[in-house]
Amino acid sequence: MTKKNKENKKQGLTVLTPEDHFHFECHQSLDCFTRCCCDITIFLTPYDILRMKNALKITSGDFLTSYTDILVGDAGLAVVALRMRDDEKKSCPFVTSGGCKIYEDRPWSCRIYPLKPESTDITEKSGKEYYSVMDVPFCLGLAEDKVMTVERWKTEQGIPIYLEMENPFKKITMNKSLSNKKIINKKIQEMYYMACYDLDRFRRFVLESKLLKLFEVEPETVEKIKHDDVELYKFAMRWLEYGLLGQHGLKVKPDVMEAKKQELRNK
Ligand code: SF4
Ligand code: SF4
Repeated sequence: MTKKNKENKKQGLTVLTPEDHFHFECHQSLDCFTRCCCDITIFLTPYDILRMKNALKITSGDFLTSYTDILVGDAGLAVVALRMRDDEKKSCPFVTSGGCKIYEDRPWSCRIYPLKPESTDITEKSGKEYYSVMDVPFCLGLAEDKVMTVERWKTEQGIPIYLEMENPFKKITMNKSLSNKKIINKKIQEMYYMACYDLDRFRRFVLESKLLKLFEVEPETVEKIKHDDVELYKFAMRWLEYGLLGQHGLKVKPDVMEAKKQELRNK
C-alpha cells in the first residue's frame, strides 16, 4: 500500500489510482469460494447482456425472461438486474461448485470486484480514474499475499472492452437533459428497453420496419448489423442518441426531410 493510501485509510477512505497496489487473490481452495455469488444485486449493462446471452447461446428475449428482473430507474427507463435463484442461499443462476459457468463472459461488476470505481464526472473528464477496494468481511481473497496494480487487474479481468462498450451507453444515460427529467411515454420506454437490452428483437425491428428507409445508414453498417451483435449494439446507441437526446447519432435522409417539410407547409 502506498503512503498516500495509508493516509487515506486512516481517514476511513482508501482511494487508489490505476498505478496503486492492492492485495487480492481468488481461488477454489478458499473457504469462501463462490460465497460472493449468492444474495447479491448485480445490475447488468447492455454489453453484459450481449455477452451473457451469446455465451449461453440463447436469444436476448429468452435471457431477459429467464434470468433478469426489470426495474425502473429515476429517469423512468428500464434497469436490468440479474435474478438470483429462489433457493436458500439466493444463489446466482450461473454459479456451480466449480465456479462461474459463464466465467469468460461474466458481467462487468463480477470482473471488477474487489474494486469499486470512485471516479466522478469531473475526474473522468480530466482523464483521472479512482477506485476503492470493497470491504467484504467474508472475502478471504482480500487477505491473500498477492499484490497487483489496479491497472493490471483491470487488464487481466478483461475490463477495457467493457469500458469501451459502456461509453456510448453512459453518454446517453448520464446526459443531463435525460437525467433531469422522468420519461413517462410508454413507447419511448419500450424503445429504450429494446435497443439497450433486447438486441435480437431490435435487429428484427431495424430490418423489418421502415427505419432504414428514413435514415442515412452506411451500407456496410447495414450488412454488419444483420449478424454482428456488437455492430448492432453500436447502431442501437446511435439510434437512442438521436431519438432521446436529439443529437446527430443518425441523419434523416434528405428526401424524407424534404417530404416532412412539405407536409408541414401544407398544414
Ligand atoms: S475470495 Fe472473495 S471473490 Fe473469491 S470466492 Fe471468496 S469471496 Fe468470492
Ligand atoms: S455471473 Fe458468475 S461471477 Fe457473477 S455472480 Fe454469477 S456465478 Fe458469480
